[in-house]
Amino acid sequence: MPFTGFNLQYPEYEVITPQTHLSFTTRSLNVQDEERLKGSLLTPTKVTEHLNKCIYETLVKKPESIKDFKDFLKLVTLKDRDTLLYGLYHITYEDIRNYDVRCKNCKKDFSVTVNASDTFNFNPYPGDDILTRRVKVVLPKSKGVTCYIKQPTLEDEMESIKSMSSRPGSTMDILTETLIIDRFEQDIEAQVDPIVIDSRVDVIDAYRTLPAKDKREIYETFNNEFGKYETELKMRVFCQHCGNEDVINIDLVENFFRMVYSSWWNLPL
Ligand SMILES: [Zn+2]
Repeated sequence: MPFTGFNLQYPEYEVITPQTHLSFTTRSLNVQDEERLKGSLLTPTKVTEHLNKCIYETLVKKPESIKDFKDFLKLVTLKDRDTLLYGLYHITYEDIRNYDVRCKNCKKDFSVTVNASDTFNFNPYPGDDILTRRVKVVLPKSKGVTCYIKQPTLEDEMESIKSMSSRPGSTMDILTETLIIDRFEQDIEAQVDPIVIDSRVDVIDAYRTLPAKDKREIYETFNNEFGKYETELKMRVFCQHCGNEDVINIDLVENFFRMVYSSWWNLPL
């Protein structure tokens, strides 16, 4: 008789997204999901796409507004994804083992094990306009230039990756940093309407020329208006070398992939 499955009921976890307030139920990863994610790490440009697909495929319940993968990309923000990833992590691995910390006092490294649910800190966005809201930032150094920022969605990220993959010199860092920029507007004395710079390629080129202080202004405004509404994984740690106390913010995305990998590397063969 062919194998028809174990009829396994995977553990499930409900996740409310902090920015769009959607409710999802996710199930734990199985071996096949882990294998697929591991494969995607070999091609960095594919990581984001595979991660989104992996999260989508582990959803056992989703809101009615999300009918397919395209809707999912359109209606979920990057910060929402971090929270979904948190849920997936929590239900699959439970704790974060051997998380490396560098002491701010003595600069030595030590590692801690974290129970993920102990570190959870949820700060929801107060409105329902997160996907459409644009915030104007007057740049302090670039006279006559204003920047409009937004909270990027998974779709924004995917489109940006696609449009930039063929362009030499475009790094993932620049790509990620500029996702929050909807457009620039430049006032011109001779005309009433400002020049609008809104294509991805032009936005990135314009961003590269900004004075550092303007960049800081953009990021501070983003954090106040959008970025702070998220799920944080904060933890109080004590240095094993000098006893210094510190509160660390755990990077779950990085740790997620580390965990996917280590569950494979650490097999006692
Ligand atoms: Zn120390």
